[in-house]
Amino acid sequence: MTPLKIGWAGLGTMGMPMARNLLKKGFSVSIYNRTRDKEKELIKLGASSAESLQHLSQVSNVVVTMITDDEAVEQVYNSGDGLLSDPSPGTLMIDMSTVSTKISKKLAKDCNGKGVRFLEAKVSGSGKLVEEGQLIIMAGGAIEDYQKALPIFETLGKTSFLMGEVGIASAAKLCLNYFLALTFQGLAETVLFAQQEHVDKQAILNLINESPLGSGVTRQKSQTILSNDFSPAFALKHITKDLRLVQKEGMRFPLFSPLLASYQSASQMGFAEDDAISIIRFLDKTVSDLKKS
Ligand code: NAP
Repeated sequence: MTPLKIGWAGLGTMGMPMARNLLKKGFSVSIYNRTRDKEKELIKLGASSAESLQHLSQVSNVVVTMITDDEAVEQVYNSGDGLLSDPSPGTLMIDMSTVSTKISKKLAKDCNGKGVRFLEAKVSGSGKLVEEGQLIIMAGGAIEDYQKALPIFETLGKTSFLMGEVGIASAAKLCLNYFLALTFQGLAETVLFAQQEHVDKQAILNLINESPLGSGVTRQKSQTILSNDFSPAFALKHITKDLRLVQKEGMRFPLFSPLLASYQSASQMGFAEDDAISIIRFLDKTVSDLKKS
């Protein structure tokens, strides 16, 4: 089998530790990040820096993208010197960003039109799970492409699933993030209500986490709440973006509209760049402002 020459585009909160894990495992990795400065750490670990996205796709036989949203993905693949401007035939492009089913299907079509393969591979997990290569990976596309990508997925994740055609993994990821947004909002409202009832913050979080209500998410975010350090493992702007994608997919259930409104208002009120559990600070502020008025 031809050894994998991996090209990695996008060194943000997720992309950086994921690419670092591949380098640590001994893979050949070329990198490209829009803000070139962020590449330095990985160059020290042995990564090669590509001159451009076009160059990245030419020196790699598998290219992974881990970037913000639909618009960014469209730009990275289809701009004048983007990944698809002059790719090597047969290259496999894997998009791991959380984006719409529509753009995923479009990318698959664009790639096929340029003689390259496309796989979507969405991830669940953040913070420590990324660092420790414990992500859960949901893929959509052809089985031969999934099999080619498996050594990458086995390094980045604890498990991966091929779910069906391109689009299905993006849909599954949006389902998970809807549940995640509900969980953050629920945890935040519960802690604030407990405080109103004079129940200590640490005590209610302990009770939640020791009871069947506790989960990996509540335990991770309890630490964030108690430490008062809201630096982003998963930025609030990203979950707001995901809820907008959920809306575009046609979500109609009753909790959805107020949930979206809550995250949108929190984003507008200055919490966009902070961790998504900052929804608790937004709700706290909103309730305090209401009491004052
Ligand atoms: P992030 O920290 O905001 O990083 C975004 C990356 O995309 C950066 O490398 C950024 O480059 C690049 N980028 C944005 N717009 C671009 C453009 N127009 N052209 C080229 N590059 C562009 O985001 P993240 O937390 O790593 O998340 C990345 C994706 O994974 C998102 O879709 C997110 O929803 C999803 N996701 C995140 C988590 C999580 O817990 N954080 C978990 C699962 C999935 P610069 O460095 O130049 O800004």
